[in-house]
Amino acid sequence: MINVTKTFLPPFEQYTETLKRAWDKSWITNNGELVLELEQKLKDYLDARNFILCVNGTVVLQMAIKALNLTGEIITTPFSYVATTTTILWANCTPVFVDIDPGTFCIDATKIEAAITPRTQAIMATHVYGYPCDVEAIEALASKYGLKVIYDAAHAFGTKINGTSLLNYGDVSTCSFHATKVFHMGEGGCIVSNDDKLSRQMYLYRQFGHIGEEYFTIGINGKASELHAAMGLCNLEYVGEILAKRKEKWLFYYEMLKGSDVQLLTISSHVDYNYAYFPVVFKTEAALLKVIAALKDQEIFPRRYFYPSLNLLDYVEYQSCPVAESIARNVLCLPLYFDLLETEQLQITGILLHELKEPALCN
Ligand SMILES: *Cc1c(COP(=O)(O)O)cnc(C)c1O
Repeated sequence: MINVTKTFLPPFEQYTETLKRAWDKSWITNNGELVLELEQKLKDYLDARNFILCVNGTVVLQMAIKALNLTGEIITTPFSYVATTTTILWANCTPVFVDIDPGTFCIDATKIEAAITPRTQAIMATHVYGYPCDVEAIEALASKYGLKVIYDAAHAFGTKINGTSLLNYGDVSTCSFHATKVFHMGEGGCIVSNDDKLSRQMYLYRQFGHIGEEYFTIGINGKASELHAAMGLCNLEYVGEILAKRKEKWLFYYEMLKGSDVQLLTISSHVDYNYAYFPVVFKTEAALLKVIAALKDQEIFPRRYFYPSLNLLDYVEYQSCPVAESIARNVLCLPLYFDLLETEQLQITGILLHELKEPALCN
């Protein structure tokens, strides 16, 4: 069986040896030494001014919205994981969907201005598949209209733009270290921000708003545990290799599929991409479903990601975004992970190309 992803795991002994440091102290959470060490190492790796290690990639979005005091409309993308929209709704804010750029799958910055109203307070955009939004255009709009910018950078670990980590953009960038992401600690996430005051606030939120007996603010429990930090510390040692392998496999898929009847992601020369996902956009949903069925026959399970377009969820007010709706219907992420074999990639692309050549039987 081949799944869309397979979690990278370090050697088991390496994990237990790292974990033993916490074990020996009987200290497994509350900013233990493994969390502090991982936090410092990731801060250095990402060249971040402020870096907060947290429990997952969702609570960090909630903390960012809270710290920025957002209460009104937030301009966002319909093409993301559902957490992007639900954290806006969770905070009783209103998501205003702006359609996406069909080439990058990220929010279409040229369409943002038309969506700005007197109630707009922020832009919350996703670097879809780890590929950057038009960060310069978004920054220009934000300063023109006095808007805050949050990037859901859950996919973006390791991507660089103009030589710097993509997480350094916006008022706040958040990332996920969930087991399915490029770098992971089982469950985990982080906040990166250049704003010291905002970072201090979110640092306090992470631990219920207090340090010892001093109570500064309301808060939440966003702490990472030593069990997760041990996984992160182990995996961080392999991150160079992980990124290199993904790139090799990504480029192999690209070579096999370019020129065929599917749309692929094109990487601009100013982007140092992390090759987090390999999305393929079909011309029709019928073609996509046909390929899914043929792959399933061989026990190969790609993922419709992201599907559906979030503006179509029952619990949000519908706003038309034709590009996102069409891409969400027609996009498939192919299996891509550390030890995926070239023979398996050939099998996958072989089936895909074969199905594209065969005329669909009906519709
Ligand atoms: C994974 C993901 C999240 C949520 O991260 P968790 O760590 O699973 O909470 C949020 N946004 C996007 C775009 C994601 O892919």
